[in-house]
Amino acid sequence: MEILRTVAKLRAWSRLERSEGNEIGLVPTMGALHEGHASLIRAAAASCGRVAVSIFVNPTQFGPNEDFARYPRTFDADCALAELAGADVVFAPPVEEIYPAAAATFVDVEGLSDRLDGASRAGHFRGVATVVAKLMIAAEADQAFFGQKDAAQVSVLRRMVTDLRLATEIVVCPIVREADGLALSSRNIYLSEEEREWALTLSRAVREAEALFAAGERRAATFTQAARMMFAAMPQIRVDYIALVDWATLEPVEIAEAGSLFAVAAWVGKTRLIDNVVLGLGD
Ligand code: AMP
Repeated sequence: MEILRTVAKLRAWSRLERSEGNEIGLVPTMGALHEGHASLIRAAAASCGRVAVSIFVNPTQFGPNEDFARYPRTFDADCALAELAGADVVFAPPVEEIYPAAAATFVDVEGLSDRLDGASRAGHFRGVATVVAKLMIAAEADQAFFGQKDAAQVSVLRRMVTDLRLATEIVVCPIVREADGLALSSRNIYLSEEEREWALTLSRAVREAEALFAAGERRAATFTQAARMMFAAMPQIRVDYIALVDWATLEPVEIAEAGSLFAVAAWVGKTRLIDNVVLGLGD
């Protein structure tokens, strides 16, 4: 497996592979890879002849008081995991390769970028859309693979691909969880043993929503109320949002239907965690 550091090298690799008839699958990550990332890489390898995994802790998607500086960086282990899961190249550029000095071009997906995580993380989705557009264009990717774990991110990126008429198809993969339900996240390593227990409230709330839907419940207020009660019983956690929305627009819905997104975000100590379920479809 090769490690590429520049856009020019990634593009040259992609063009050579495509000229030989291979499709290119792209898996954008910020590193600190875990089984959730591995599942995306395996899906990419199953669907595309060649797979590029990007490892780039993207500064523009972090707010000034967020964890950019201390975000876990485990490059050697990441490369081993990526190779084992089926990556052909790892693209790991320095920041100035993605953001040349005085870079002034950004991708803003209006409206969608201010909802759910975008509401509490100003500028976050602008950073995400910008870096993913750059990666899709640089890799000339046929398909790019994302986790449903970041469901609002998926909505923003789908809109971006449609609006910019990008040639990359978005593929969404299911949430990978620990045996007890906790969604895998690079940020889980921040959690103390106690906090990790508290964090299970998110997956329990999501599971409850799924159970309500399966039992025939459709009123949004019932879904959000049930989750609020679960979080109220765990005062160590601070809820950021509990929302039932249309997955494409991220607008609240009053009546749930199959495909509606039930999503939660909460602060567990200093760590912000998210979880969700697409109702009626599983996660
Ligand atoms: P990140 O490195 O956190 O930016 O995540 C890179 C990609 O991995 C994103 O598309 C995430 O949605 C996806 N991902 C993160 N955690 C999981 C998980 N538990 N299950 C599936 N995909 C995940």
